[in-house]
Amino acid sequence: MAEKRDYYEVLGVSRGATDDELKKAYRKLARQYHPDVNKDEGAEEQFKEVNEAYEVLSDADRRAAYDRFGHAASQMGGNGDPFGGFGQSPFGDIFETFFGGQTTRRRSGPQRGADLQGTIDITFMESMFGAEHEMELTRQETCDSCHGTKMKDGATPPRCTVCSGTGEVRRVQQTILGQFMTAQPCSNCRGEGVTITDPCPTCRGRGRVTRGRTINVTVPPGIDENQTLRYTGQGEASPNGGPAGNLYVKVRIEPHEIFTRNGRTIQMTAGVNVAQAALGDSISVETIDGPVVFNLPSGTQSGEKFRLKGHGVPSGKERGDQIVTVQVLIPHDLSSEQRDLFERLAETMGSDIQPQPHTRSFFDKVKDALGV
Ligand SMILES: [Zn+2]
Ligand SMILES: [Zn+2]
Repeated sequence: MAEKRDYYEVLGVSRGATDDELKKAYRKLARQYHPDVNKDEGAEEQFKEVNEAYEVLSDADRRAAYDRFGHAASQMGGNGDPFGGFGQSPFGDIFETFFGGQTTRRRSGPQRGADLQGTIDITFMESMFGAEHEMELTRQETCDSCHGTKMKDGATPPRCTVCSGTGEVRRVQQTILGQFMTAQPCSNCRGEGVTITDPCPTCRGRGRVTRGRTINVTVPPGIDENQTLRYTGQGEASPNGGPAGNLYVKVRIEPHEIFTRNGRTIQMTAGVNVAQAALGDSISVETIDGPVVFNLPSGTQSGEKFRLKGHGVPSGKERGDQIVTVQVLIPHDLSSEQRDLFERLAETMGSDIQPQPHTRSFFDKVKDALGV
């Protein structure tokens, strides 16, 4: 497709041509190329070209846009509808600077109340099985006396006469790209659309009052550190009849003396004595459900891990596991009897050092990485 010719060139006029000059040039060319009189090949195309050029240049706004942006300006679809061709327009960013600011400044219509944040501290066991907590907070609530209308006795406030209740004042602005509508919050009613003529004495016309509240917080079982609970509508009341904001409660968990958590797994270390490790034993291991009897096999090494199924973190109807790491405790305060026994034991075991292969520590590392 041939490149579009310059509109001034099409009409054969200078860029500074007056409206009269444009009109004269157009009439002359239109007569010349009119399909009724001109049967030459391409005459019809030229006729269309002339018409299009005149249509744009005879319109002050479109001419200004064309002067600035060339043919691309015609994609804007003229001045009647500045949103015309919005999607494919190369002026998307320009439109946004015109209209983006307007929408964010707009204050009419009910606003949502502000969100509130809080924190509660719970014990490790509470995080496992859930808990009920109370939380103190101070928030803006809808005034009971006026039910948020801001008027004495809850009367309906009269409409602002300046903005007719819309909360904003619209102005038509002439710009190089055409006419644009700008909206500013009404200064008479501060964007609220109503005038408080007889303010409620309780809230002094604010529609909201500050209140201290005690909120019941229900901690679900299995909650993890820094998880947040949302209480819809428990935040600040709206300043103008919109929905209340939300309350977000962050949960902090006090560390437990013997248990730690990794996802749904609970980890703890069980110290056993040398005899238990060597001979095996039926031992009682702490879990979050209370002590559980566990059969420690003979020949258990220090650092070996065992899994107690179903004694981990609750998650819905399921439970994670508890991993018990065995630590063999070497006695340092031996009674004379124990010393005697160890010496006899030592005689049977010899005094050779046994170098350990790498593989052992390698498997330990893998196990650690897997959290088992
Ligand atoms: Zn009130
Ligand atoms: Zn107003």
